[in-house]
Amino acid sequence: MSSLRFKVVEEASDHKAIPVEAPSERTEAYFGKAVFNRKKMYEYLPKETYEALITAIEDKQPISRKLADSVAEGMKRWAIDNGARHYTHWFHPLTDGTAEKHDAFIEHDGKGGVVEEFSGKLLVQQEPDASSFPNGGIRNTFEARGYSAWDISSPAFILNGTLCIPTIFVSYTGESLDYKTPLLRALNAVDRAATDVARLFDPKVQHVISYLGWEQEYFLVDEALFSARPDLVLTGRTLMGHESAKNQQLEDHYFGAIPSRVEAFMRDLELEAHRLGIPAKTCHNEVAPNQFELAPIYEETNLANDHNLLIMKVMAEVARRHNFCVLLHEKPFSGINGSGKHNNWSLGTDRGTQLFAPGKTPQDNLRFLTFIINVMAAVYNHNALLKASIMSATNAHRLGANEAPPAIISIFFGSSVSGILDKLENTTPEELSNLALKGELSMGLAQIPELLLDNTDRNRTSPFAFTGNRFEFRAVGSSANCASAMIALNAAVADQLSKFYTEVKKRMDDGAKLEDALLAELRLLLKTCKSIVFDGNGYSEEWKEEAARRGLDCETSAPRIFDAYLSPLSIGMFGRTGVFSPVELEARNEVKWEMYTKKVQIEARVLGDLALNHIIPVATRYQSFLVDNVVKLKELFPGVKGAKVVSHDLDTIEKISHHMDIIKTETDRMVESRKAANRIQSERLKAIAYHDNVVPAMETIRYHIDKLELMVDNEMWPLPKYRELLFIR
Ligand code: ADP
Ligand code: MG
Repeated sequence: MSSLRFKVVEEASDHKAIPVEAPSERTEAYFGKAVFNRKKMYEYLPKETYEALITAIEDKQPISRKLADSVAEGMKRWAIDNGARHYTHWFHPLTDGTAEKHDAFIEHDGKGGVVEEFSGKLLVQQEPDASSFPNGGIRNTFEARGYSAWDISSPAFILNGTLCIPTIFVSYTGESLDYKTPLLRALNAVDRAATDVARLFDPKVQHVISYLGWEQEYFLVDEALFSARPDLVLTGRTLMGHESAKNQQLEDHYFGAIPSRVEAFMRDLELEAHRLGIPAKTCHNEVAPNQFELAPIYEETNLANDHNLLIMKVMAEVARRHNFCVLLHEKPFSGINGSGKHNNWSLGTDRGTQLFAPGKTPQDNLRFLTFIINVMAAVYNHNALLKASIMSATNAHRLGANEAPPAIISIFFGSSVSGILDKLENTTPEELSNLALKGELSMGLAQIPELLLDNTDRNRTSPFAFTGNRFEFRAVGSSANCASAMIALNAAVADQLSKFYTEVKKRMDDGAKLEDALLAELRLLLKTCKSIVFDGNGYSEEWKEEAARRGLDCETSAPRIFDAYLSPLSIGMFGRTGVFSPVELEARNEVKWEMYTKKVQIEARVLGDLALNHIIPVATRYQSFLVDNVVKLKELFPGVKGAKVVSHDLDTIEKISHHMDIIKTETDRMVESRKAANRIQSERLKAIAYHDNVVPAMETIRYHIDKLELMVDNEMWPLPKYRELLFIR
């Protein structure tokens, strides 16, 4: 074994499972140990401070400077007692992941020494340099600096000896520069709108809470192999690599035993998650080899999203301890499944009612129908926007491919709910009010619970599926910040619910009874919006045609999909719900286009480099080895016999030339397309040029490199192959 590739493969197979010590305490004892939760607040804060803070959190009120000082003092004591020496405002900029700036807890004491100091001012507000984060021109337009401010609804926590304070990140003129600010606005909007509607059924409802349960898919790759693949290191995905002879066709990974190395990693990860108060519950294999999933118990959406961002970071750290690298990219390997992050989403009242769950009485079921039909209407009206909310340069590889949700948003309800909706739509108002009068809102409504029990036809091809008491938004990408999808969804549903409420009230003002008003409005929504419902196979060609006929958004190019944020429909909806101003929407789209361009640009550069500096030289070397062989064979066997003996080699030599030729020409073309695109001023048009001209060239280059991989001497091939990357032993 001579080549670098063989060395790293050998090193990778030397890695054994690292034993993880089981904690001596029970889970309750260490769960949330690293979190400044209510229990710690109670312990470390003066009684009045504790009470005032809890009231502020519950009423979503800002806190005074005096209160902040007192909270900061207690928080600092707790953090130092638990080994923290630094603190940071932890925020979610428009790049991937999270950002933080660490400061030590020290101030001059005025006597030449230092004291451990942390004031309310530092807790509540900081000024990270906003210019180093994408802002889509907001800073230039307003010449404003950005500041981060404590989100009192998410608890602070300690990570690697640093007290992390979850914050929003906004410009001085109030525009959001992050994901958390608009998420909180969208959650408030849906709280207000859904509370009004929920009160029609239960006047005691004060708040409606949005819940999120994410399911994080990821791949693990041995660190040694990862480091030997510049494409994985620099872009998070393999830009080349022929399919392994065996991958997922035997469907043996999903149910297979977890390799002991991975099991040790998962146990370690779960421990870390629990210390951070993340209720990690299931860890299992996924469909593709080396693919796994982690899912916690669902939580209130803002907290659940903090936890998802946190776990993505913690996963990477824990993986390194086990000589793994974690891949969160949506499509690290071609030819096998990519990774998503299903967003299980529901609304529930502060009285404990799940609004998307059918109940025992006709009244409960009318509430159930009211909420799911309004969700349906919101998804129908904003299907283009919802698709834009999950789109990115990386998720573009997954959507529309044959294993993932299609690039068309539709809702799956399942046969029993769909049946009830049909019935409701086709019953005349007179029939309905007759039924209501007789107290027999039967038309199937009262039987919903029984019907749902056998509703097991869970359609895996739908991007947005109703699953009994929640909706599962499956199109979200594995590396995404869930906030993007949650902002669009909660805002769209909020807007729809407030429109619905107004219409129902109008009918009641005109003398209609509540039930009649509700049913009439629901029937109207069904009539206008039910073309978003699709229970068939979302991967089929027929669906693409059918969806276009139904007028659903069928755009597949990521940079054009982003346009949906700037449609009058979206601008109006975001304006009414107070989630985004037009300025914010424009600025954020600039960032989206810019990020798209940059990601493709980096990939194209890496691919060009690998093609010209790794693949072509190796293929040339192998080809010249064959040429030598041909010359020697011909010397040995002159004449007709010689021609026959070398014919195979000659054929290979020619094929190698053919592939190398295309790789070189296409690489040149790709570089030219990039140069042309870079000259374009508009971020939107630049991203479109990258999508239309650079991406196709990359695909062609890859195709021919993968062909070469099959021909060139295995020993010479410089990069770890799929069969080596994909099977952890
Ligand atoms: P799947 O079969 O899709 O893997 P699971 O039962 O594992 O489904 O649940 C997936 C996620 O859905 C979990 O995070 C779970 O906590 C969450 N979940 C369950 N009920 C709700 C709900 N009412 N609202 C939001 N999320 C929920
Ligand atoms: Mg799921």
